[in-house]
Amino acid sequence: MSKELISKINQYIPMNRILEQEPMKLHTTFRVGGPAKLFLRVESEAELQQILALMKTEGEDYYLIGNGSNLLISDKGYDGVMIQLSKGFADVKVDGRRLYCEAGATLSAIARVALEHSLTGFEFAAGIPGSLGGAIVMNAGAYGGEMKQVVEAVRLMDAEGNIIEKSCEEMHFGYRHSILKEASYIVLGATIRLEAGEHAKIKEQMDALASQRREKQPLEYPSAGSTFKRPEGYFAGKLIQDAGLRGFQVGGAQVSEKHCGFVINKEQATASEIFNLIQEVRQRVANEFGVTLETEVICLGEF
Ligand SMILES: Cc1cc2nc3c(=O)[nH]c(=O)nc-3n(C[C@H](O)[C@H](O)[C@H](O)COP(=O)(O)OP(=O)(O)OC[C@H]3O[C@@H](n4cnc5c(N)ncnc54)[C@H](O)[C@@H]3O)c2cc1C
Repeated sequence: MSKELISKINQYIPMNRILEQEPMKLHTTFRVGGPAKLFLRVESEAELQQILALMKTEGEDYYLIGNGSNLLISDKGYDGVMIQLSKGFADVKVDGRRLYCEAGATLSAIARVALEHSLTGFEFAAGIPGSLGGAIVMNAGAYGGEMKQVVEAVRLMDAEGNIIEKSCEEMHFGYRHSILKEASYIVLGATIRLEAGEHAKIKEQMDALASQRREKQPLEYPSAGSTFKRPEGYFAGKLIQDAGLRGFQVGGAQVSEKHCGFVINKEQATASEIFNLIQEVRQRVANEFGVTLETEVICLGEF
């Protein structure tokens, strides 16, 4: 690792937020992933602008990570600079029915603020273990709700460090999709528009969805949630189950016995084992039913 690059970065951010050869398994909910060349915790828009400018002049690749709850990072790691918007990006401000949220705020923290202010519409997201940034990129959703329904506007930074705002329509949200899947903008924050509701009812709904998750999902194991997108006209979990793959294992990676739509890290799996299991499941489901499963989980690095 070039000490020169580190000292250039250190002009803008302190050394305790510049981590060298940081194991990505510490930052992903799958608990796998080799080292990132550098891992930076960025705490302000000004810092981010300076880092992006530096990445450009140095010709370094970078990648934004939120809570790492939808990422499968290779055992070989990421040969570039991993950027996380950390503590300085966790603010949630309330103004009437609007929440101004920064990208590093977790969905559960935003849901807590909505509940405190008796605002309804965000209950669906309370149990999704992601950050606002990751949820906007993915148009995260559950139980009939999705980010598209509540996002009014998104504050973004482009690769040149320009700050722009896009409306919900301009984000082209679709099923687990937004324009950010193709364009390299960084989410800085978003305005979420909710409705006035009743505290008790909101709490009841959040508790009900949380217990539904605990009952149906293998939350006791590391995973990245649903591994596959829902194929048109089918349910991924049902296809996998019908292909006889419940409990199917490659090394320490397993198709969850509790919910076949989840690939879990059952016992100290490597990223390669998880990746190979996913490929095998796709192949067998394609052979059996002629349906192509697309991953919802994003694979990063060399497999
Ligand atoms: C147990 C469990 C249950 C889950 N349940 C659901 C569910 O019900 N519904 C659902 O939709 N998902 C679910 N997920 C998946 C995951 O939580 C969501 O996709 C979440 O939105 C990802 O957010 P993140 O911050 O973890 O993003 P990450 O996994 O860190 O990143 C995801 C993508 O977003 C990009 N990204 C992250 N932050 C930024 C930013 N600030 N700017 C630009 N790009 C950024 C990354 O580069 C990456 O491409 C579940 C996951 C787990 C582990």
